[in-house]
Amino acid sequence: MTTTELRPICIAGNWRLGGGVQYDTCYPATGEVVATLNAASVGDVEEAIQGAHKAYLESGWAQRKPHERAAVLYRIAQLIRERSEELAQLQRRDNGKPINETRALVASAAGTFQFFASACETLEETITPPRGDYMTMSIYEAMGVVAAITPWNSPIASEAQKIAPALAGGNAVVVKPAEITPLMGLELARICDEAGLPKGNISVLPGKGSVIGDAITRHPLIRRVSFTGGTSVGRHIAQIAAEKLMSVSLELGGKSPTVVLEDADLDHAVAGVMYGIFSSSGESCIAGSRLFVARSIYKEFMDRLVKGAQSLRVGDPSDTATQMGPLISQSHRASVEHYVKIGLDEGGQLRAGGSRPKGTLYDKGSFYLPTIIEGLKNSDTICQEEIFGPVLVAMPFDGMDDLIAQANDSVYALAAGIWTRDYKKAWHLARALKAGNVWINTYKQFSISTPFGGWRDSGLGREKGRLGILQYMEQKAVYWGMNEKPLPWAN
Ligand code: NAP
Ligand code: MG
Repeated sequence: MTTTELRPICIAGNWRLGGGVQYDTCYPATGEVVATLNAASVGDVEEAIQGAHKAYLESGWAQRKPHERAAVLYRIAQLIRERSEELAQLQRRDNGKPINETRALVASAAGTFQFFASACETLEETITPPRGDYMTMSIYEAMGVVAAITPWNSPIASEAQKIAPALAGGNAVVVKPAEITPLMGLELARICDEAGLPKGNISVLPGKGSVIGDAITRHPLIRRVSFTGGTSVGRHIAQIAAEKLMSVSLELGGKSPTVVLEDADLDHAVAGVMYGIFSSSGESCIAGSRLFVARSIYKEFMDRLVKGAQSLRVGDPSDTATQMGPLISQSHRASVEHYVKIGLDEGGQLRAGGSRPKGTLYDKGSFYLPTIIEGLKNSDTICQEEIFGPVLVAMPFDGMDDLIAQANDSVYALAAGIWTRDYKKAWHLARALKAGNVWINTYKQFSISTPFGGWRDSGLGREKGRLGILQYMEQKAVYWGMNEKPLPWAN
C-alpha cells in the first residue's frame, strides 16, 4: 500500500493524512476493503480545534447574516442531491445497509441541510416587554467550536443532523465519526468545502472514540458535544461535560416496546412490527425490540409474524430487492449471538432465525437471520438489554394496566409503537408509555421538523425541529437604556 492510496482526512480544512494508526474500513457483506486511511492523532485533534477556533474568530462565518449562511447550507443540500447515487453506494459499502435504505438516508441528509437553512434564515429573536426605561432583547449567538460524535449505524444522516444545525448557528464543527464508518463524514466535509463554507469551519477526525472522541470532549475550546451512541459512552461524556460545565445532547440506546391490541389491523401490525425490528438489521436505536401482543390474538399474530420474518429477503445490499443486509461486523454479530444464547439459556424459545443464513452468498459477510424469541419475562436479560441486532422478544399481555407496567419497565425510554383501531386506547397509551417518541399505527417514520430524543437512559436533549438550531447557540439578553435622566439609585 503506497501512501497515495490512503484517504486523507479533514483537519480544519486541510486535507492530509491523519497522524494516527493506519486501518482499513471493510464492506460488511463481503469483508473486502473499501478504504484505507490513517486515523487522526491526538495532535490532529489539537490542530483541528485550534484551526476551528481561528475560523470561528476570523473566517466571518459566525458574523454572516443568517440568509447568507443559509445560502451555503442550501448549496450543500443541492450538492448532496447531485451526488446522491454515488453517496448512497459509498454508504452501502461503508456500513452494509441495503441500497434502498442508504438512498433514503442520503435523501434525508439533503433534507436536513435544506431544513436548517430555512430554520436559519427565518429564526426570530425577541424584543421582550421592558420593565424600566430600556429596551430588552433576547438574541442568539454562535457558541464557537462544537463537536459531533456519531455512531456507525446511519452515518450520513446522523452526521447531517448535527453538522447542519451547528453550521446554521454560526459555529465551527469538529466531527468524530465512528471509527469503522468514516467515509460519509469525510464526503460531507468535501461537499461543505465545495459549497463555499469558509475553511476551518469543519473538520472530520476518524479514529477511536476512547482516544480521539475523548480528546475532543475534554478540550477546553469545545463548547458543546452532540453525541449519538451507546448509553455508557454517553454517561462518560456527560461526566466530562459536568466538569467543564459544557452543554451536551445525548441520543442513546433503547429497548423500545411495540404493542399490538386485539383490535389492531393485523396486516398493518405484522408489516409494521417486522419493519420496526428487522429493517437496518435491527441496528437502530429506535428498533421495536420488545413486542407485547394481546393474549387473545397472540397465537394468530405470532404465526403470521414468524411466517413474515422467515420470508424476509436477507442478502446482497446492492440488490434493491434485499430487505436485510449483514450486521456491521463479525464482532458485533458475535455479540448478537451471545445475547440469543443468553435468551435461550434463560428459557426462551426460538420461533424464527437464531442462526446465520446458509449459502455461499453469506460465507464472508456478517449476516444473521431475523430472529424471534418468546417465552421470556420482561425482566429477563434480553428483554432489558439493548442487543442492537435483528432479535425480537415477544410476550403476551393481559389488560391495559399489565401492558403499561411491562412496557414501561425498562431503563430506556426512546420509542414506543402502538397498533390499534381504537382511537381512545391509542391516545391513552400514547400518553401512558414512557418514551421520547411514540408511533401510532406506523413505526420508524421520521420528520426533520419534529424534535427527536429519549427519556431516562435513552438520552438528554432533542435534535431536529425548527428550534434544533438553538441548541448550538448561546442566548444573550441585551438591555438598552433609553432613560432621559441618569439612573436613580436602587429603585
Ligand atoms: P458507541 O460505542 O457509544 O459509539 C458512538 C461514538 O462514540 C463512536 O464514534 C465512538 O467511537 C465514540 N466513542 C466511543 N467511546 C468514546 C469516548 N470515551 N469518548 C468520546 N467518544 C467515544 O456506540 P456504537 O456502538 O457505535 O453505536 C451503537 C449505539 O448507538 C447503540 O446503543 C444505539 O442505540 C446508539 N444509537 C442511538 C441513536 C439515537 O439517536 N438515540 C441513534 C443511533 C445509535 P468508536 O468508533 O471508536 O466506537
Ligand atoms: Mg463502538
